[in-house]
Amino acid sequence: MKLVLATHNQGKVAELRAILEPGVPGLELVGYDGPEPVEDGTSYQENALIKARAAAKHTGLPAIADDSGLAVEILGGSPGIFTAVWSGSKDNVANRRLLLSQLRDVKPEHRAAAFFCTIALVSGDDEISFTGQWPGSIAFAEAGEHGHGYDPIFIPAGFEVTAAELEPEIKNSMSHRAQALAGLIDYLRD
Ligand code: IMP
Repeated sequence: MKLVLATHNQGKVAELRAILEPGVPGLELVGYDGPEPVEDGTSYQENALIKARAAAKHTGLPAIADDSGLAVEILGGSPGIFTAVWSGSKDNVANRRLLLSQLRDVKPEHRAAAFFCTIALVSGDDEISFTGQWPGSIAFAEAGEHGHGYDPIFIPAGFEVTAAELEPEIKNSMSHRAQALAGLIDYLRD
C-alpha cells in the first residue's frame, strides 16, 4: 500500500519512513511535492487534516500529515498551534530564546509543559486521526545537541535532562510523535 506523507520536508519523510515501513508490512511511504494548503485550522487536528486532505486530493492516494506543538501551562497553553512561529518567524533559536525569556521569573514548579502531536490519515472520504502527548517542563537554559526545535529547553517528565540530551532512540520511543505513530501503525496493521 502506497501512502503519501504531506510534507515537503525530506528529513521528515525519512524519519517517518524508518518507523512506519518496518511497522506496517507492505507499506511504501512516499513524499509529496504538490501545492501546500494554508494551515488556518485552530487545532493540531484541523491543521493535520487540512494538509492530509490536500495531499490526498492532489495525488489520488491515501495521505497522512502530522502537526505538532508545545503547550506551556502558565502561558495558557501557548505557543500551541503557533509553536513553529512563536517569535514571528520559523527561527528555532529565536523561538526558544523568546520562550525562555517569557518564563525567566517563573519558579520550577510552575514550568509545566507538554508536546502534542496529531497525525491525520485521509483516504477517499475516510478521515481518522491519532494523537500523542509528551508531558514535561521548560528548562531555565538550553542544553543538549540532539533533536530539533524546542528539544534543548524541554525536560521530559521523569528526566532531569532536556530532550536534546537524550539519545534519539530514547526520545523516539516515548515522544508525542512516537505515540501518535504507534496509533497509526496499529490502525494500518488492522
Ligand atoms: P511541526 O508540526 O512538526 O512543523 O512542528 C511545529 C513546531 O513544534 C516546530 O516549531 C517544531 O520545532 C516544534 N516541535 C514539534 N515536535 C517537536 C519535538 O519533538 N521537539 C522539539 N520541537 C518540536
